[in-house]
Amino acid sequence: MINRSLMTSIIFSVFLIVGLQNSYAEDAQLCSLCGKPIQEGSILFEVTYENGDKQQVGCPGCGLSLMSDKKIKSATTMDFLSRKIIDAKKAYYLKGTEVGFCCEPHWLSFSSKSDAEKFAKGFGGEVLSYEEAVKARGHMNH
Ligand SMILES: [Zn+2]
Repeated sequence: MINRSLMTSIIFSVFLIVGLQNSYAEDAQLCSLCGKPIQEGSILFEVTYENGDKQQVGCPGCGLSLMSDKKIKSATTMDFLSRKIIDAKKAYYLKGTEVGFCCEPHWLSFSSKSDAEKFAKGFGGEVLSYEEAVKARGHMNH
């Protein structure tokens, strides 16, 4: 009897684990560029095309590489500290910092330049304006 109930609980746990993994895989949104799951800490970068289509990626690094597409009307990113959605063109970017949740090199975005600079002092990286960041990202693709 003990063995049988043990077996039952093992089988039940296995089903539970498989079930949880499946539901996680279905729920997890993937960065449409690098394919990494978009996590809680990810900087959501969203572009809106002229036809109204939207595309979300998991980091400003991926997002900035989309921005050379002329059909993009607007874009938003996230302030890393406050998690607020901000205009991507007004944000400051930190390239190559030690902290990141998507692909490497890590990119973060900030609404304030001084926050980005303070963060860079602790965790490294280069503070860039939107224009500089698009250029830097463009070079990396070649
Ligand atoms: Zn990415």
